[in-house]
Amino acid sequence: MIDPSSEFALIERFFKRSKLTNSFVGYGVGDDCALLTPLGTEQLAVSTDTLVESIHFFPDVDPEALGHKALAVNLSDLAACGATPRCFFLALALPQIDQMWLERFSAGLHALADAHHCVLAGGDTTCSPSGLVITITVLGSVPSGHALMRSGAKSGDDIWVSGELGDAALALAARRGLLTLPQSDSQSVLRRLERPTPRIELGERLRQVASSAIDVSDGLTGDLAHVLRASAAGAVVEWKQIPRSAALRRQPDSMQKDYALAGGDDYELLFTAPVSARSNVLAAASCTDDVAVTRIGTVTATADLTVLDDAGQPVQTDIRPFDHFAADSATPRRC
Ligand code: ADP
Ligand code: MG
Repeated sequence: MIDPSSEFALIERFFKRSKLTNSFVGYGVGDDCALLTPLGTEQLAVSTDTLVESIHFFPDVDPEALGHKALAVNLSDLAACGATPRCFFLALALPQIDQMWLERFSAGLHALADAHHCVLAGGDTTCSPSGLVITITVLGSVPSGHALMRSGAKSGDDIWVSGELGDAALALAARRGLLTLPQSDSQSVLRRLERPTPRIELGERLRQVASSAIDVSDGLTGDLAHVLRASAAGAVVEWKQIPRSAALRRQPDSMQKDYALAGGDDYELLFTAPVSARSNVLAAASCTDDVAVTRIGTVTATADLTVLDDAGQPVQTDIRPFDHFAADSATPRRC
């Protein structure tokens, strides 16, 4: 008889599912190892992300949303490579066994996994007295040699971004009590913070179209700087082109700039493509789950990043991406 609150019973109840396999996962949860089938001519794309309580999420966040977000941030990395999700591994360090919490967390996780046919193939479950830690490793596949990389941007390429930027940072500021939002704005931006949509289909369709890509997890300018460094290029971005929601546009201009240019947690795709590919980019986006793409600037040969305001003057931005170990990050900045 297995103790219902034991690690093994929890895995059985919340993480082992009847649909255990797909063409890639020969055997999933339940043995010492998962058994994965090599993918022929495809390459595996693999990524890991960890969410830590009070650093990446508020302790009282809705567990169903947290299950969604823990997987979404990992799937977003696959999207940025143009990869198709195949399976994932979940390492959970739990401060206590709370069956109701696990029920909701696993429901949010499985709903997003099922939407992308991404099988939970294994993991680890441990106790963590100092707070909840969720680590997910995702595996995807991409035709060999066709993964989108940060390093492919060329001078003269257009710079594009999907969706709208800055809402997650606005929601975070509201949750911290730094500002008060109208009720309907508050709900819409909180959804963007808590339930980001990984742009999987867009990433897949951009494989033969984009020259480089990254997902915007740490803020537009910081993530664009990663692309420019990897591509040995620079960029000019036009502030007025940056897509922003109605909720963000209701805020003061300086706040809009902070959140849309340097806020984090957007999980949109930032990519470059040759000018000749404009119609292909728009065609790729028009086929996907109702997300728009917007052209926001141009890649340049000189290695700096300039954001021009409405009057054509450079905007002062902090282009450093969020760094957990930076000297001034003793107080967690983001959740
Ligand atoms: P071992 O002791 O051999 O490492 P475990 O007892 O940790 O195995 O895990 C038993 C099985 O349950 C394994 O297949 C493992 O991948 C799976 N598993 C453990 N924790 C999780 C989890 N949080 N999510 C999914 N699968 C899990
Ligand atoms: Mg073992």
